[in-house]
Amino acid sequence: MPLEKYKQKRNFQSSPEPSGDLALADKRAKEQKDKKSLFFCVQKHLASHLHYDFRIEHHGVLLSWAVPKGPSLDPKTKRLAMHVEDHPFEYGTFEGVIPEGYGAGIVMLWDQGTWIPEVPDVDAALKKGDLKFTLDGYKLKGSWVLVRTGGRYPGGSGDRSWLLIKHRDEWAGEVDITTFAPKSVKSDGDFEDILAQDRPDVWESDRGGGRPATGGEAGAMLAKIIERAAAIKAGRPPESIESKPSAKPAARAKTSSVKRKPGAKRRTK
Ligand code: MN
Repeated sequence: MPLEKYKQKRNFQSSPEPSGDLALADKRAKEQKDKKSLFFCVQKHLASHLHYDFRIEHHGVLLSWAVPKGPSLDPKTKRLAMHVEDHPFEYGTFEGVIPEGYGAGIVMLWDQGTWIPEVPDVDAALKKGDLKFTLDGYKLKGSWVLVRTGGRYPGGSGDRSWLLIKHRDEWAGEVDITTFAPKSVKSDGDFEDILAQDRPDVWESDRGGGRPATGGEAGAMLAKIIERAAAIKAGRPPESIESKPSAKPAARAKTSSVKRKPGAKRRTK
């Protein structure tokens, strides 16, 4: 059954994630042959660790890979991509807070657009472990490949580990795209803005225990995001947090940092 693993892992009573409509998956799968391009997205996900979920539509669902370091535009930089369970098509524009359970943390829609396979048979390419494709997103464009490593890559495991690699073309470059363009293409916000709009207090009362990440880099990042989200919610400039941790309440500064990128359309669920 499609999306079986996706559904098994989640409790939709407590998670705001889409529950996965099988009729919709079936409908989209049937429509696929008439389409020249299909949906793709990258969701930046701060859970127990920060990673980027790369998803491409195929047979009515989103084939998914978790890329710990995110995509690189530099063809010399191969990024580990762990193949994970298929996600529902509707998941592709999801952005929000998962308060607890599997994947608990914050999800940001980091990029979205369309993809076109560069091979005649996607299923055969996936089976072979070598899928070439072209992306047309806001941040990621041009020719790319996903190659299965067969577990030969350090940090990878078994046949779930693939590499995401940019091909050399006019869209390749040395700019670190995750640092250069860190925000959402849906809300234009950062993690703290997404948390502030949703449930900024979700992990606040619980110093430790219930937080998806407490130690290490992800834990430190989450702690700062929680603090900044609380500041946004309270109408204090979140910019004050790094320099003045005990900043007094003040009118919220004009948030020039959340200006919309030209071309980035606001989308609703
Ligand atoms: Mn994820």
